[in-house]
Amino acid sequence: MDYRKSYRIYKIAVWVCLVLVLFARLAEILWMGIAGIVIMVLGMGQTVFFCKCPYCGSNFNIRAKLPKFCPACGKRLED
Ligand SMILES: [Zn+2]
Repeated sequence: MDYRKSYRIYKIAVWVCLVLVLFARLAEILWMGIAGIVIMVLGMGQTVFFCKCPYCGSNFNIRAKLPKFCPACGKRLED
């Protein structure tokens, strides 16, 4: 899995989590909120292993947009 795919999965996990937690609150379905949080944790967890520079292996900041150049080694990342 490359870092862009990993980043996309993370973004999707955040949205799925938000929707599930919101829906769980409105409908008062506890397990749905828990499922949302589990998805979020898994989505964040996988970025530690996959969302990193293909050249030097340093992790990217997933709270910001993906950088065009690696902040650690300065190599250009393909777009
Ligand atoms: Zn790098």
